[in-house]
Amino acid sequence: MQEIKICLTKNPKAKPTDTNNLGFGKIFSDHMFLMNYDKGQGWHDARIIPYGPILMEPSSMCLHYGQEVFEGLKAYKTASGKAVLFRPEKNMERLNNSNERICIPKIDVDFCVEALKKLVEIEKDWIPESEGTSLYLRPFIFAVDPVIGVHPASHYIFCIICSPVGAYYPSGLDPVKIYVEQNYVRAVRGGLGFAKTAANYAASLKAQDEAESQSYAQVLWLDGVERKYIEEVGTMNVFFIIDDEIITPALQGSILPGITRMSAIELLGSWGYNVVERRISIDEVAQAYDEGRLKECFGTGTAAVISPVGELKWGDKKMIINNMQIGEISQKLYDNMTGIQWGKIPDTMGWITEV
Ligand SMILES: *Cc1c(COP(=O)(O)O)cnc(C)c1O
Repeated sequence: MQEIKICLTKNPKAKPTDTNNLGFGKIFSDHMFLMNYDKGQGWHDARIIPYGPILMEPSSMCLHYGQEVFEGLKAYKTASGKAVLFRPEKNMERLNNSNERICIPKIDVDFCVEALKKLVEIEKDWIPESEGTSLYLRPFIFAVDPVIGVHPASHYIFCIICSPVGAYYPSGLDPVKIYVEQNYVRAVRGGLGFAKTAANYAASLKAQDEAESQSYAQVLWLDGVERKYIEEVGTMNVFFIIDDEIITPALQGSILPGITRMSAIELLGSWGYNVVERRISIDEVAQAYDEGRLKECFGTGTAAVISPVGELKWGDKKMIINNMQIGEISQKLYDNMTGIQWGKIPDTMGWITEV
């Protein structure tokens, strides 16, 4: 394994004092991890250095053709003061799946988990401790060849930055309002949907902007071909509880395979619930709603963990779910997932990595 060189800052920044108003991704810690890739040499020069600007040419390929992949995970401070990560190897494995799709050279999963741990160990005092807060970690890789011809690059930078964050939704676990997107699509099978890459977000911004201007938190994407089957929410996977079945759309190439989604499926299964991954159409959801069988709807993602949906709008139809209140199963999932993450309840699933 490569060695990680460490150069600590001589000018540490003041840490945020009001950790109840951190927002999301606006403040960055003192250090970052960097590593370079050059064709013929592989990944090299792993280092942790003071956080700061990265010098690159205006012709850098990522700026023109979007060859970039990223990850998102959180470090938590437990009640006993330990810094822990939630399934970090899953993030690094997924990063490699994204790499594979857009021709970025693979990383060494074990080494990159070690790099994350080392960085978090150094930034341990940046992990905020108040309720709902954490240190968000953003690993990302981008192409830096100074060439604007279209082809996969030969030079890349891998970087990890850290940001102390508050609760994702300032209103906390209050159910959010989302609407079914009918004009735009996010991804199609054969495209980039399953990869965590900037381009998917570029495709989604317009819809997000229009949703926000109508006071909706995010959009619910339908499949790009038939515009009928449910895919996911802006930054989250989605679950519906209809009768006693907990349904989430099956992964088929255009949906981002969330680690929170996977963990929710495993946890619900371990409790004996009937969890099914299958195709589910918006018509099926609307019909279940009309018949009083749609009990809960929630999103899953690292940022919000579990986000109950209180209103789902589809064209002129407004579906108010569970009276705009968080449902029983959504609450139980949230309490258990965050309980494991914050070390309040035993990690029976083996999901926690101590730093
Ligand atoms: C990251 C992401 C998710 C959630 O994945 P987690 O691993 O649970 O954080 C869902 N959808 C999209 C589009 C994403 O980018």
